Amino acid sequence: MLNADVVVLSASIVTFNPAQPKAEALAVRNGRIVAVGSNAEIRSYVGDETKVIDVGGKTVVPGLVDCHVHMTGFGWHLQTLDLCGVNSIEEMKQEIREYTMENPEKSWVLGGRWDHEKFVEKRYPTRWDLDEAVSHKPVFLIRVCGHVGVANTKALELAGVGKDTAVKGGKVDVDEVSGEPNGILRENALELVWRAVPKPSVAELEEACIQACRKAVENGLTGVHWIVDSAEELRLLQKLCKEWKLPLRVYLGVPAKLLDTIVKLGLASGFGNEMLKLGFIKVFVDGSLGARTAALRKPYSDKPETYGMLLLSQRKLNKLVLKAHRAGWQLAVHAIGDKAIESTLKAFANALKKHPRENHRHRIEHCSVLDPKLIRKMRRLNLIASVQPHFVFSDFWVMERVGNERARWVYPFKTLLKEGVVIASGSDCPVEPISPLLGIWAATTRKDFLEENLTVEEALRTYTVNAAYASFEEDEKGTIEVGKFADITVLSDDLLSIPPEKIREVKVEMTVVGGKIVYKK
Ligand SMILES: [Zn+2]
Repeated sequence: MLNADVVVLSASIVTFNPAQPKAEALAVRNGRIVAVGSNAEIRSYVGDETKVIDVGGKTVVPGLVDCHVHMTGFGWHLQTLDLCGVNSIEEMKQEIREYTMENPEKSWVLGGRWDHEKFVEKRYPTRWDLDEAVSHKPVFLIRVCGHVGVANTKALELAGVGKDTAVKGGKVDVDEVSGEPNGILRENALELVWRAVPKPSVAELEEACIQACRKAVENGLTGVHWIVDSAEELRLLQKLCKEWKLPLRVYLGVPAKLLDTIVKLGLASGFGNEMLKLGFIKVFVDGSLGARTAALRKPYSDKPETYGMLLLSQRKLNKLVLKAHRAGWQLAVHAIGDKAIESTLKAFANALKKHPRENHRHRIEHCSVLDPKLIRKMRRLNLIASVQPHFVFSDFWVMERVGNERARWVYPFKTLLKEGVVIASGSDCPVEPISPLLGIWAATTRKDFLEENLTVEEALRTYTVNAAYASFEEDEKGTIEVGKFADITVLSDDLLSIPPEKIREVKVEMTVVGGKIVYKK
């Protein structure tokens, strides 16, 4: 009998393999599963060199995958000022003061995740608020959505933002009386300040990535669809991979600004190895609902003069999508408002008409404000809905933003499934918490529009089977069966039998990637 490198025994395994839905144990060789069965069957694979992992009856599920995460941003965020949970501008000022004192070596005070919706003042903070906290150093803090930021006077000066600064695809808000920038910057206007921020060194970037990976495996993730921002990040990931410092599998999301370069090289989705491969081209079509920059067909209910904004004209989007599609790339288009989704659907329809391609697996990221027609069109075009279930809870103001009628069709997970659209789930971390368990909890326990709740099994599939499909890797992962990677997540409780409300309390006991324990509680 074949000696295994690793066996996992005494487990309650949810395999998602229809031919063998449940099992107690599995054996691993060369990073792949070679047998799945009962304890007795698998014990026969134990030899002198075999590592035996007895999980003591705990639940084992296929390794969880996060289909939308900004890992470097997450790592960066772990090292910067976190304003999540701050409930007033006064408290925000206090946090800024304290952080500045505790981090004297930092030349900029950076961070974010503030949410003015939670502030008692119910308004955006301004440069003058920040100046009161810290004026001798530049301060730049991004809103929780990532599409709006606030800078203090020093930061605006360094960025050269003044009274007459105009930005394409963005906005510099001004004070109504003086006409001076009030510190709030939207969309592309954020870039003005980013350009003034000193670039992190390669070592700092590496540290951020490593910290983010550590957090990811602690949360039970065996893979991430890692959205990168720059060539530096891509280079760094290759270095980490070569040095065996990547504890989990990475499917890369490449920004559209690198499309021309990467297409010229002849590279396309799927290039790479088992740990690190090229995934999709990421395109932004609109902003966020939180910041009212998501493009809607009808005005925002709580600000009737605003529709949000499309970041690309239809013509430009069509061109971009067609180019990537033709070159063999999977596309992942960020579209939140119904107008943005409609525009994205047009672009995909156009590309598929001009250049029919089976099995393209193009995705719409977030895909928030839908309606039955848009959903059916998604199905017809065979698009994947790449969603982040935790938004259901974070976007508690959705009813105000879009009104009851449209709110019914925000994150309609069950309808998407019923209509035959593949849903793949992720976190959008650091916008939302990275925990896939919190995502499963959110997808199954929403309190409004109960009919859109998924079952726990359905939700779990969106992080496993469907996540594998979303990266063309259904033959390699997503289920626990012979031949697939030995990627598993060990949980403290059986997700499928506890009440969904309790999922928030479930702990990750162990994370295994390719038969190797990358996290243990
Ligand atoms: Zn994102």
